[in-house]
Amino acid sequence: MKKRVLIYHTGGTFGMALGDTLAAQKQSPHFLEDLLQRVPELPSLAKIELRILCNIDSSDANQKLWCLLANAIQEDWNDFDGFVIIHGTDTMAFSATALAFILQGLTKSIVFTGSQRPISAMRSDARVNIIDAVELATRGIPEVMVCFDSEIHRATRVTKYSNEHLYAFKSYNAPVIGSLGVNFKIKRKILNSIIPFAKRHMPVVNTNSNSNIASLLCVPGVMPSDSFIESLLNSIEGLIVQGFGSGNLPVTEKNWLNLCQKALLKKIPVVMSTQCESGAVSLDLYENGRIFSDLGVISALDMTFEAASVKLMIMLGRKISFEKRHEFFATPLAFECTPVSKNKEDIGTRK
Ligand code: ASP
Repeated sequence: MKKRVLIYHTGGTFGMALGDTLAAQKQSPHFLEDLLQRVPELPSLAKIELRILCNIDSSDANQKLWCLLANAIQEDWNDFDGFVIIHGTDTMAFSATALAFILQGLTKSIVFTGSQRPISAMRSDARVNIIDAVELATRGIPEVMVCFDSEIHRATRVTKYSNEHLYAFKSYNAPVIGSLGVNFKIKRKILNSIIPFAKRHMPVVNTNSNSNIASLLCVPGVMPSDSFIESLLNSIEGLIVQGFGSGNLPVTEKNWLNLCQKALLKKIPVVMSTQCESGAVSLDLYENGRIFSDLGVISALDMTFEAASVKLMIMLGRKISFEKRHEFFATPLAFECTPVSKNKEDIGTRK
């Protein structure tokens, strides 16, 4: 029997020109008609329905959209075998990661896709991306995924890498879990995680998150001033810093140390992420990281910046105690990091 796939449209480049008709009208039947006219293959892959949840540039996506999506999926759960979310590429990795954290114990596929060129444009990647995403959504892989340019990424491992190439996404610290080339290929381990149809129960939905965080990127010679530190720490509940390399910050001038020390004194958790796309944060590798680790700064390990920042919001939203912050961060919720013992082994070989 044909699988039932529900497509949620949220916006982005994908529907932009369909848009005058589609998005402006916000009428699902018109959007679906237009989509099926341009991609007539879709009904042979699955029984398709479509809902327009919103039509925004994904720069405007936020916690509200994550909740909207999670609640919609919960409501539609029993009527569909899989879900596709059309989303702008700019913040797709954040929204996909958030859903992977929010929907606990997932038993069906949630596939994010979008495109670099509108579906109406010459050489658009939208057609192939939606075909791939719908096909993937029928397979029952119990994960949130990003399907783009015929590659299948884990939601929590992917980053937007290019605004120019159709190959827009990369998973730097984890291999892709499959691809749709000449053949549809999925890793055996992932295929083994598919569970029988009768057991595809509703996930536990926990939308608690707290966006009252700040993100700072360290630039050589640019120091947070005392007044900046004071006003910042008076207004946030969590901080994520993108340090250099394996998670290092300047220590000769004490500003970053002061910032972290003062934050931690106020029980504001501080996460150290890195400006490197590839490789893990390893605070014990250099003195300029160790000092921060000794203060109590949390390592983002090999998480993407997207995963680390969303995990910080989720940690605050779930009211995880300040003392449990390291444990919470080091424990994968949805494959977002390599467990610490494995990271340690890797670092060992580099010494
Ligand atoms: N600015 C667009 C968005 O993220 C880009 C895209 O969809 O590719 O909504």
